[in-house]
Order: sequence, then C-alpha cells, then structure tokens
Amino acid sequence: MEKVRLFDKTFRTFIPYEKIMNAIDDVAERINGDFKGCTDIPVLLCVLNGSIMFTAELMKRLEFNCEVVSIKLTSYEGTSSTGRVRQAMGLTSDIKGRRVIIVEDIVDTGNTIVELKQILQDAGASVSVVCTLLFKPDSYRKDFPLEYVAMQIPNDFIVGFGLDYNEIGRNLKDIYILDE
Ligand code: 5GP
Ligand code: MG
Repeated sequence: MEKVRLFDKTFRTFIPYEKIMNAIDDVAERINGDFKGCTDIPVLLCVLNGSIMFTAELMKRLEFNCEVVSIKLTSYEGTSSTGRVRQAMGLTSDIKGRRVIIVEDIVDTGNTIVELKQILQDAGASVSVVCTLLFKPDSYRKDFPLEYVAMQIPNDFIVGFGLDYNEIGRNLKDIYILDE
C-alpha cells in the first residue's frame, strides 16, 4: 500500500485510479442517458479547485454539447470544514435560462451545495442538478437531492484526484485517506 506525506500528515491509498475511472464511466453513462439528444446546451459547472480532474474526466465521456463554466468556493481549512462557504471567484459566464450540472469533487456537510444552488438561482439558471465524484452520506445534513453520485465514502478526510490538504496533494492520481 503506497503512502504519501503531505506537510505533517501521512496518507495511504484508498481508491485506486482504475476504480475512480470505472465510477466516472458509470456516472457519465447515467448523465448521457438523461441528457443525450437534448436541444439546449447544458452548463457543466466546475467548482474550483477540487473538481478540476473530475470535470476533465467527466466531460470526455459526455455525448452531448455542453459548456464549461467555473466558480471558486472555499470552506475547508486543514482537514475540516469551517462551516462558512466563501466565494473566491464568481461564475465565469452568464448562465441565465440554462440547465446547470454542478460538478463537485465531494459533498460532505452539503453547505457548499446549498450555497451553489442559491448562487445559480440568483443568476437565473433554469434548473440545477448535482454530480459529485464522492459523497459522505453520514455527514450530509441537507434536503437537496444529489442526482449523480459516483462513489460513497465514510466520514474520513481524503486527498488526491483534485482534492487537497492545505492546497497540496491535488496532483495525486489515486485517492488517499488519512493514515493514523
Ligand atoms: P461541504 O460544504 O459539503 O461540507 O464540503 C464541500 C467541500 O469541502 C468540498 O467541495 C471539498 O472542497 C471540501 N471537502 C469535504 N470533504 C473533504 C475531504 O475529505 N477532503 C478534502 N480534501 N476536501 C474535502
Ligand atoms: Mg469542492
């Protein structure tokens, strides 16, 4: 089992790259089933920075015309949520009247999703759905449905495949879990 050291913490492999790819194949197939043949151009909303890798892998697999828009939100410091969601960069394009697929790296407490839904509603999106690579069901406290979940995980802190520990570790190709 491979271990990596990031600042003061050690992490071990949790979800290998191949398994991540298979999970993305499955979720992309579901989205294609729902959107293929659509006459509008749905927006893929990449929630920076965590969703960079997932957005890239997901969009390669989508078989309908879509536009990528980004937004940057932050809520984590170290290995836990601050409970406050800050908008570090607003929507990079006008999404008025558009269907939006929110592409998230991970849904934990759900605070970020609630904030995003509000931002999209205020910006005039016609509808928004959520597609997340990872979901922590034991931590989620909101009522919004999560339409597309690629993988469910327990309530542990993970890094890699876009996810960071104080901004490092995003480049790791597998997903790692805190080793203690
Ligand atoms: P929420 O608002 O749902 O509590 O948290 C969402 C955001 O917190 C995610 O988009 C992600 O940026 C960050 N986050 C939540 N859990 C983890 C985790 O286990 N590892 C890392 N690196 N970030 C996480
Ligand atoms: Mg995120």
